[in-house]
Amino acid sequence: QPVTIVCVGMAGSGKTTFMQRINAHLHAKKEPPYVINLDPAVTHAPFQSNIDIRDSVNYKKVMEEYNLGPNGGIMTSLNLFATKVDQVLGLLEKRAAPDPQNPSRKPIKHILVDTPGQIEVFVWSASGSILLDSLASSFPTVIAYIIDTPRTSSTSTFMSNMLYACSILYKTKLPMILVFNKTDAKDATFAKEWMTDYEAFQAALNEDENNNAFGGQEGGEGVGSGYMGSLLNSMSLMLEEFYAHLNVVSVSSLYGTGIDEFFEAVQEKAEEFRRDYQPERDRVR
Ligand code: GDP
Ligand code: MG
Repeated sequence: QPVTIVCVGMAGSGKTTFMQRINAHLHAKKEPPYVINLDPAVTHAPFQSNIDIRDSVNYKKVMEEYNLGPNGGIMTSLNLFATKVDQVLGLLEKRAAPDPQNPSRKPIKHILVDTPGQIEVFVWSASGSILLDSLASSFPTVIAYIIDTPRTSSTSTFMSNMLYACSILYKTKLPMILVFNKTDAKDATFAKEWMTDYEAFQAALNEDENNNAFGGQEGGEGVGSGYMGSLLNSMSLMLEEFYAHLNVVSVSSLYGTGIDEFFEAVQEKAEEFRRDYQPERDRVR
């Protein structure tokens, strides 16, 4: 049974570039994936899709016809596409099974899904949930949460990004891999350290606070004190629990480093899906 990898992340984090990279990697291994593009607004997709939302909805026309801005246009396009989810699943199931007419054709091992640039359109919309739940009810499904490493190197953006990832884990109830991307521009060692060593994160917090001209009073106790301090401490405890369930990989989609590690993580998460997530999903349904 193929594993579905759904790429989500903030706009500009590198979802599409990452998709292009893992797609090329699988092609080189002679295991071509099945590729689905769910971003109606992408103007130039650097990879070939088997199913492309742009083939069935015209985002520009949707905007004009319904008098919508860009976000409303993407959302409505996704809604229109979600009405065809049965057809999509039909195609996927056909490709996942051996073909009696053509025994030399190998069944696919991976389904790759690219999502709209604006993460909330996919994760927090009804149609996004329908698409995701349909995929997850047919195939082991894992979320690849793509992070722009250079842009998450301050403690506050890092914390916000992790809280956001955590909310997506909670919303989707699917196993997650954190993909620290763009590590050619900034190494992700700092992030891995912050995720495993609370004291190191605390030290970085205090340092950021001291460097911040608007924050931390002269001779103050940094973030260790007051409301922000106790809030941060509670959030750190919560995040510790969150981190324990994650796989973390650092990659450069531009240069292709870390991709083998990513697929090892996919294997692990797919097994976790079958073992832990699937029974829970079946029980709720
Ligand atoms: P998306 O909005 O999440 O789909 O992001 P894109 O894939 O369109 O990438 C946004 C920008 O980040 C583009 O200019 C990419 O060239 C750049 N980018 C993506 N991956 C990497 C990477 O690994 N390293 C570097 N340096 N830039 C990257
Ligand atoms: Mg994109």
